[in-house]
Amino acid sequence: MRIISSAVGMQKLARFWQRQGVRVGFVPTMGYLHAGHLSLVRAARKHVGKSGRVVVSIYVNPTQFGPAEDLASYPRDLKRDLQLCRAAGVDVVFTPGDAEMYLGKAEGNYSTYIIEEKLSQSMEGVTRPAHFRGVTTVVAKLFHLVLPAVAVFGQKDFQQAAIIRRMVADLNFPVKIIVAPTLREGDGLAMSSRNKYLDAEQRSQAVILFHALQAAKAAVARQSISAARLKSDLKEFFTAAPQARLDYVEFFDPETLEPVAEVKPGTQMALAVFVGKTRLIDNGRL
Ligand code: AMP
Repeated sequence: MRIISSAVGMQKLARFWQRQGVRVGFVPTMGYLHAGHLSLVRAARKHVGKSGRVVVSIYVNPTQFGPAEDLASYPRDLKRDLQLCRAAGVDVVFTPGDAEMYLGKAEGNYSTYIIEEKLSQSMEGVTRPAHFRGVTTVVAKLFHLVLPAVAVFGQKDFQQAAIIRRMVADLNFPVKIIVAPTLREGDGLAMSSRNKYLDAEQRSQAVILFHALQAAKAAVARQSISAARLKSDLKEFFTAAPQARLDYVEFFDPETLEPVAEVKPGTQMALAVFVGKTRLIDNGRL
């Protein structure tokens, strides 16, 4: 397994592979890897096969964090991440630094961004206004450096995956986007690097995100319900976990992300919840 931290070095290798006709499967991450990330690595390998190459990027992208968010404290453990990648059969781990990605030689030398203007307006885009601008920009840059045939994203970040798909379609990126299912802990909590922030009590209350998805699923299986009614029922539901504060819950069409008035089987639900200071998200098809 090779570890590359130079952007130019990564692009040179990617162009070499391209000339050889070698297909690249790419998994962008912010590190602190867990089994969910590794499932994306397996999906990437499945798509490019033994003759292809799998690249994982580990980069905590500053432009997708708001000023009051957890950029400085975001968990990092590169040594462990590299071990996990090696064991998972990754060919290259790309670990650029901020200077490589954004600043060039002098501070302030970066001024170009990619902005998706529609799907990024709701949900995460409301609470985290510059978040998706940072995500689309860094993913576009990574695509130009890694030149993947296939890139794998997690369903866990449903809105992000929809926005990346839209960017790739709108801007004609020659890459196939795959969205892989959410891996969960034994009790149903979606795996996330941010789960590390939770103390024991918060960890036990955090499963309420999953329970809320299940409760909504059970409710609409019987009969369709107005989104307003279901939202108010779920607010009530959250009083059972005093450490958890609902940021948003939305019901929407999984293709267009348009909110629906009437929730029924097939509607997508997404929610964000503060558990203590930690902000967790989850989603599922009802
Ligand atoms: P992150 O490191 O949080 O930026 O995530 C990198 C990629 O892993 C994104 O495409 C996420 O959607 C995906 N991912 C995060 N958590 C999970 C999970 N529990 N199951 C599957 N994929 C995940």
